[in-house]
Amino acid sequence: AHKAALAARSKDNLRSPICCILGHVDTGKTKLLDKIRQTNVQEGEAGGITQQIGATYFPVEALKQKTAVVNKDDGFEFKIPGLLVIDTPGHESFSNLRSRGSSLCNIAILVVDIMHGLEPQTLESMKLLRDRKTPFIVALNKIDRLYGWKKIDNNGFQESLVMQNKGVQNEFRDRLEKTKLAFAEQGFNSELFYENKNMAKYVSLVPTSAHTGEGVPDMLKLLAKLTQERMTGSLMYLSEVEATVLEVKVIEGLGTTIDVVLSNGILREGDRIVLCGLNGAITTNIRALLTPAPLKELRLKSQYVHNKEVKAALGVKIAANDLEGAIAGSRLMVVGPDDDEEDLEEEVMADLQQLLGKVSKDNRGVSVQASTLGSLEALLEFLKQMKIPVANISIGPVYKRDIMMAGTMLEKAKEYAVMLCFDVKVDKEAMQYAEEQGIKVFTADIIYHLFDDFTKHMDQLKEQRKQDSKLDAVFPCVLNPLQVFNKKDPIVIGVDVIEGNLRISTPIAVVKHNPVTGVKEIISLGRVTSIEREHKAIPLCKKGQPSVAVKIEGPNQPLYGRQIEEKDTLYSLISRKSIDTLKEFYRDEVTKDEWQLLVKMKPMFDIN
Ligand code: GDP
Repeated sequence: AHKAALAARSKDNLRSPICCILGHVDTGKTKLLDKIRQTNVQEGEAGGITQQIGATYFPVEALKQKTAVVNKDDGFEFKIPGLLVIDTPGHESFSNLRSRGSSLCNIAILVVDIMHGLEPQTLESMKLLRDRKTPFIVALNKIDRLYGWKKIDNNGFQESLVMQNKGVQNEFRDRLEKTKLAFAEQGFNSELFYENKNMAKYVSLVPTSAHTGEGVPDMLKLLAKLTQERMTGSLMYLSEVEATVLEVKVIEGLGTTIDVVLSNGILREGDRIVLCGLNGAITTNIRALLTPAPLKELRLKSQYVHNKEVKAALGVKIAANDLEGAIAGSRLMVVGPDDDEEDLEEEVMADLQQLLGKVSKDNRGVSVQASTLGSLEALLEFLKQMKIPVANISIGPVYKRDIMMAGTMLEKAKEYAVMLCFDVKVDKEAMQYAEEQGIKVFTADIIYHLFDDFTKHMDQLKEQRKQDSKLDAVFPCVLNPLQVFNKKDPIVIGVDVIEGNLRISTPIAVVKHNPVTGVKEIISLGRVTSIEREHKAIPLCKKGQPSVAVKIEGPNQPLYGRQIEEKDTLYSLISRKSIDTLKEFYRDEVTKDEWQLLVKMKPMFDIN
């Protein structure tokens, strides 16, 4: 067996690492991809770059050619057989390349616009990379936009930099330092790639231009270097099948197909496969393994080539029966001779079950719907960190029944009668129903936009509740009576504020002890409707400020000389509810002295 294992580790059995590109919109992800795919005409066809399904494959020969300008002495030795680069940049692909909670993406390029620094989606990407423990390099893109940059197409960065005048070099250094600082603030140490002495500790920053191609050879070399350093030896050999569904697509003549990234192992026509479906596990046989027809053969009838078997790493389209309802982001497993089909079905469905397990236990929370397993997972993780509870989750387009689920919150917790839709379509009828019922539907393709919308919604609701509870918010105060001007309807009285602050609409009371029985009695006088000093209305009188005349109005006012007396101290009428209201909505507006006064007054009003 030992011999067999050694034999298996031959050159023919190497597998290539998989690379994803992430970053904020407009940083140049697509352009960079175009640039690295582009073959350099002058140097002839770069050996064997192949277009696959959802990915481009660069055999090591192509990598060698493309990095020749920065490897003139051949000092760098390529050990990887090639590199598979995923064609759709962004979160979506990255989060769908998953297996048992870890990432099938072996290495990533995080693209940052050197003129803009870190942007919201950059931070989101960094979080994903950190969570999935994926090694990455940073392409500091658009260096050609540094003012006065003189280009040499497809040059190595260092050579290009020394050609620039001092002004350009200074601006570059300046922006580089700012970027490093911004990375440090996010908890990442970073270094310019050729100054980086420890790739395990420091993220490498490689300046690039997707327009001129400068720095692109450095970037490719760095990718190879980092995978070789960080991928363990065993990861570089073919072993058991590891595959994930990136997209589910209906293709004319083929029906529903799945686009799969095979990151390890071999897939064969006829293989029995198991994957996660919306209505339970899907078990079926591979009818066809399809890859795009090479450009020169496009005149052939079909746009696809049929393969008897395919080896990792590659992107392939699988045609099979029963693929409707397949979920993007699902793992794909092959039923081997010793495998129990049901075990595998359970295993692939566990990914979805595990997400279902993340919903709120007490059934109070928002409803969440996303396009794929990976994006749903990323969104749930994010909401958890933001402490937003989730009650329902689902995958795929939003229909009326989904909105109805969200609607069950209208009675339980109105603020959560909300549907957060990430990268999914909302059915017209569903939208109309939501509007009728007052269920908020937020849609976005970017997680933090959803979060912002939801936070705004919560703030609005809170402001509304704050307005509604205004009369319950009683700030504490103690008033020393000076002279009663009017005994009833309304009571008008001159006072000094001796504790706290007196505000309009504060309810006022006198606390009496019956001299005979000793029983305490709280007598309400009504609410303050005006505060005047020298015949001028003021909204507030603070402790220690000159005396004011106060008008108090309310139903059934007690009579001065009968139930209450002119010398009775006046208090704001507090209650458990008024204190809770202050705590919930006015925490920031209550001073330390006021909290202390509340504590002192509580026993007087029998509040515990
Ligand atoms: P993506 O959204 O990250 O995929 O960004 P794109 O690749 O679509 O690029 C966004 C815009 O930036 C386009 O107008 C590109 O032409 C431009 N762009 C991308 N890379 C560069 C670059 O290196 N230099 C300059 N000057 N412009 C770039």
